[in-house]
Amino acid sequence: MTEIAIIGGGAAGAAVFGALLRHGGSTGVHWIAGPAANGRGVAYATADERHLLNVRASGMGLYPDQDEEFAQFAADRRAGAGGADFLSRRLFGDFIEAQVQRRSEAARRQGRRFAVHRQEAVHLERQAGGYRVHLADGTAVDADVAVLALGALAQRPLRAVSGDALASGAYELDPWRLPQRTHAPRRLLVIGTGLTAADTLLSAAYRWPHAELVAVSRHGLLPLAHSPLPLAPYPWQQDLNDSLLACTGVAPMLRLVRTALRTAPQTDWRSVIDGMRPVNARLWQGLTLARRKQFLRHLRWLWEAARHRTAPQTAQTLQQLLEEGRLQVHAARVLAVDGHGPLEVGIRDRASQARSTLRADLVVQATGLDTAAAYTGHVLLSQLLRDGLAVADPLQLGVAAQPDGRLLDAHGDAQPGLYAIGSLLRGNLWECTAMPEIRAAAHALAQALAQAGRSAGDATDGGTAPPRRDGTVIPFPRHNDMAFGEFAET
Ligand SMILES: Cc1cc2nc3c(=O)[nH]c(=O)nc-3n(C[C@H](O)[C@H](O)[C@H](O)COP(=O)(O)OP(=O)(O)OC[C@H]3O[C@@H](n4cnc5c(N)ncnc54)[C@H](O)[C@@H]3O)c2cc1C
Repeated sequence: MTEIAIIGGGAAGAAVFGALLRHGGSTGVHWIAGPAANGRGVAYATADERHLLNVRASGMGLYPDQDEEFAQFAADRRAGAGGADFLSRRLFGDFIEAQVQRRSEAARRQGRRFAVHRQEAVHLERQAGGYRVHLADGTAVDADVAVLALGALAQRPLRAVSGDALASGAYELDPWRLPQRTHAPRRLLVIGTGLTAADTLLSAAYRWPHAELVAVSRHGLLPLAHSPLPLAPYPWQQDLNDSLLACTGVAPMLRLVRTALRTAPQTDWRSVIDGMRPVNARLWQGLTLARRKQFLRHLRWLWEAARHRTAPQTAQTLQQLLEEGRLQVHAARVLAVDGHGPLEVGIRDRASQARSTLRADLVVQATGLDTAAAYTGHVLLSQLLRDGLAVADPLQLGVAAQPDGRLLDAHGDAQPGLYAIGSLLRGNLWECTAMPEIRAAAHALAQALAQAGRSAGDATDGGTAPPRRDGTVIPFPRHNDMAFGEFAET
């Protein structure tokens, strides 16, 4: 009997959990989902209704098959008019909870063995035929397969930030903690101009109507916007994608995309970028390490702005703030952040190279996903790296892995039964952090694991735990008769 442990309580963990409950046959599933254990993770835990999804309702979901009806869920709650809408991330969080609950109830009726642990996994060790996952409360879970769905890593302060600035309380490393701040700043400075920065500026503009807002990033480019209505696909996308796949370098790829846009002036550039989605991972995998570096150095900023676009409403509000003069955006490098509050932020302007200093009562770091595994303080991931069970990607885009998500060990060998999903796989897949990619990956992984479980044959009795070694190994509850979120309070 195969036992699977999923580690991580965000949308990716929820997608794997739900997919395994549906496709996993007789596998036993442990979801180690952290204290919140609700599948919302970072992105869908926000309570601010202004924080919108950056994918239309019709493109969002948790599973790529059946009960896949986010737009309908929204309509039932009178929260959206149709599939083309960009709805709130909070609503999508509600949808995730409802979907997981539904699959849990169905699995319980079928007598499936599963448990949700409201604990963090702090240590993972290999043992004969599988893994033992140690939880923060001192208990442990034994499994044949472990899936890491850890999401992005906690932000580390930029090198330019002094110890004084960090200790001052005026430097915020986690933009999602902003609602806990009670003191209205006169000037708030955001480092970064991506999607998280956009949300931060939106919330701050509403909450502190008299605050002056400043955003600084190297290129000073706010995210580009989705079109209000869905666009017609680029008619020659298949030919373009085939030609891109035949390229070996970044510059020829860029030339091909530019030529496509020039020769089809009636086509919206966003259709072409979106049409590349099915081949993005293969394009990335076709690049050598040197070419990936080249892409990251010269094109990443443009790709991120074009590919990870914001909802039209968000872009409109930001534009209004710019026009009213409440928001200033600088294309500049941050050289230093110092002081005891207010903070002094030294910058060098990108165009003129002139240095200047900005003062702000509150500085928020919103520099995007951190996947630099080698430098993380994440307890479990650093232990995996230390023990050679994982290896950092050479470009600090998560961990080294095979295309199917299996982690490579220190010798470059794929580890049996140790997988990752989501942002930890950026080094291998590049585009793997959004729901359309995550749910497809979760579905494929669940099917592969179920197939492997069937091939291995079933030996163990339902409801029993793998053999005890040391510490308390948690068995599945005898009767899975509790509602989602209350299973195993470990
Ligand atoms: C602000 C923001 C907005 C986004 N908007 C969209 C969008 O509109 N559409 C879209 O498709 N994508 C969006 N994304 C992309 C987003 O990354 C994915 O949609 C998805 O939420 C990723 O889920 P995840 O589970 O991989 O990561 P996370 O949401 O980071 O969840 C991982 C969870 O695992 C937990 N965890 C970590 N370590 C352990 C451990 N050792 N033990 C137990 N638990 C652990 C973490 O605490 C966290 O709760 C957005 C991302 C962000 C940050």
